[in-house]
Amino acid sequence: ADFQSVGLIVGVTGIVGNSLAEILPRSDTPGGPWKVYGVARRPRPSWNSDQPMEYVQCDISDAGDTLAKLSPLSDVTHIFYVTWTSRSNESENCEANGNMLRNVLTAVIGNAPNLRHICLQTGNKHYIGPFELVRQSPTARPAVHRGLCPELDYPNFQYNLEDILFEEAAKKEGLTWSIHRPAIIFGCSPYSMMNIIGSLCVYATICKHENVPLKFPGSKAAWNSYSNASDAELIAEQQIWAGVEPTAKNEAFNCSNGDVFKWKHLWKVLAEQFGLEYVEFDESEKEMSLAVMMKDKGPVWDEIVTEKGLVPSKLEEIGIWWFVDLTFAGEAMLDRYE
Ligand code: NAD
Repeated sequence: ADFQSVGLIVGVTGIVGNSLAEILPRSDTPGGPWKVYGVARRPRPSWNSDQPMEYVQCDISDAGDTLAKLSPLSDVTHIFYVTWTSRSNESENCEANGNMLRNVLTAVIGNAPNLRHICLQTGNKHYIGPFELVRQSPTARPAVHRGLCPELDYPNFQYNLEDILFEEAAKKEGLTWSIHRPAIIFGCSPYSMMNIIGSLCVYATICKHENVPLKFPGSKAAWNSYSNASDAELIAEQQIWAGVEPTAKNEAFNCSNGDVFKWKHLWKVLAEQFGLEYVEFDESEKEMSLAVMMKDKGPVWDEIVTEKGLVPSKLEEIGIWWFVDLTFAGEAMLDRYE
């Protein structure tokens, strides 16, 4: 087949990687027809087996494995970098994530003569600082740009990734980049390290199984305030647009849905979807943590998987409770469009 563009999705089983793999092969996708390579660490799962791509199992934290698996992909024209790793503190995050990005760029830039553009996905932690800071002070912070706010003079792996991107992209003439900064992502992936809607659906399923009402395990501020989300397909489309649109080069973009919602409204929908009793936020109850509430529910989930014949999964992999707890700790930060 005659391909116009060749995309390398790094993190193809992730929340945005999965949407990129859905959208790129479509006949009406800008820049197409696209050939797709999808990289992830684990063997190809059954749930994405219908996506037309060449799946490359590769651990990008391993420089040797990355060079061996990615340097032969000499026809790549676009890289979509939609992956990350999490360590126990931000300086380790900087090092581990920096190594992963560098391994990929080192393997591809020198070996893919037609490489034109790199999309790097970071997020609005660019403005609020890493999770460590957010945990210390869950109240909303003003959105500020890197370098303008001394308060944010704090290690942030997303800043490191930008620096590596700029340095590596400069090595090849005509190679352009774009940076994409979503808010909390609503998308579909059982392999994501941060999937809020998936996690809430797992919580709702457990409530249903145990025949208890769907309580909101968060703060009043999160329940009542406006929140902001980024649809995974929208982010994927923004990245593809930036990859093919000549005026979109070498820029960073925020990316959110543009409308706002309240968790209390979404809660009603969630309860309805699962046929659960809807309960309002109750101030008299003491603060709840899903991480604590779900601590011993692994065997319950295993039971549900067997009973309903679900694709096997472990509760700790698909219920990302720390992320829900963090999201529900306080008011969300909204993007501002001017
Ligand atoms: P994700 O966790 O959904 O997916 C990560 C993907 O990378 C998976 O396919 C995983 O298998 C793969 N992967 C992980 N380690 C790997 C390795 N060593 N080798 C090969 N593949 C590996 O990713 P995401 O949430 O889209 O995160 C990408 C960026 O987006 C991060 O910087 C994150 O902070 C940011 N972000 C995420 C959210 C969210 O709600 N998920 C919100 C805002 C910003």
